[in-house]
Amino acid sequence: MTYDYHEPESVPEALDLLARHGDDAHLVAGATAFTLLWRQGLLRPGHVIGLRGIAALGGITASGGGLVIGATVTHRTIERSQDVARYCPAITRTFASVATVRVRNQATIGGNLAHADPAQDPPPMLIALSAEVVVASKTGERAVPVEDLFVDVFTTSLRPGEIITAVRFPALAAGTRATYLKFLPRTADDYATVSVAAAMRLADDGTVADVRVALGAAGPTPRRARSVEDALRGARPDQERIADAAARVDRDIEPFDDVRGSAAYKREMARLWTERALTSLVAAP
Ligand SMILES: Cc1cc2nc3c(=O)[nH]c(=O)nc-3n(C[C@H](O)[C@H](O)[C@H](O)COP(=O)(O)OP(=O)(O)OC[C@H]3O[C@@H](n4cnc5c(N)ncnc54)[C@H](O)[C@@H]3O)c2cc1C
Repeated sequence: MTYDYHEPESVPEALDLLARHGDDAHLVAGATAFTLLWRQGLLRPGHVIGLRGIAALGGITASGGGLVIGATVTHRTIERSQDVARYCPAITRTFASVATVRVRNQATIGGNLAHADPAQDPPPMLIALSAEVVVASKTGERAVPVEDLFVDVFTTSLRPGEIITAVRFPALAAGTRATYLKFLPRTADDYATVSVAAAMRLADDGTVADVRVALGAAGPTPRRARSVEDALRGARPDQERIADAAARVDRDIEPFDDVRGSAAYKREMARLWTERALTSLVAAP
């Protein structure tokens, strides 16, 4: 079993190939997820379109306080980027927590998002930071909040013929703190049993001016924890309030049983790690 491999040098060229080969075409970037699915016979495209030769998809740009990461930038490049670390060190830590260096050297941010495994690390962090993906098609470009990208396990809201070209992060309000905690009871290179990303900004009077919380491995898609956010916004985040808010995460998640634990265990770990994430943000200097 084999396929024709195409290596376009521009996005329009890649879009032409997608249009020409339709359902028989599959995009790849780092190919870490694609190769596993192909080897198992779960994907059998006649045409594979490699995106890594498209220079326009490859850079990291910081401007106006925000950040744009091209779709084919690897996890390792993101982990080592000074621009990323200056924008938000929690992104650096998030990408550094993915699998192993070997995987991170190949895997790209666009491939990570399009793969849509609900246990992946970057999506919750990107949701907590209000990032959006830029998507190109023959009809133009659109922006999709990362929060709205995921529809189900391994399923996104990307339409046929669309390519993720970049991930855009907005300028963060001064004083925003962010964290990503990955609960790994098995091995350091495993997928999360549960993960929590949070971004918070306190007002001058010490109350919560803004907060966003998202969880990984806690349902068929990454979950935004709006019940937790609502319990904190405008409140003084003392330990009691944080514990109460974290307990509400139960309403926002839909974990299922798998090799990393039962749904009941994950619910309890989601509460605990949400409380830890929020506590660490309030305790930060
Ligand atoms: C051993 C191993 C361990 C792993 N552990 C973790 C972990 O701990 N945490 C974690 O978060 N992830 C983990 N992963 C998953 C890994 O993050 C993904 O496989 C990787 O991010 C996919 O990126 P890629 O560039 O290799 O995508 P590819 O395999 O090239 O593509 C994946 C999917 O995305 C589509 N695609 C790729 N680029 C685009 C684009 N620009 N626009 C539209 N569609 C696109 C492809 O068509 C394909 O369907 C692990 C993977 C492996 C193999």
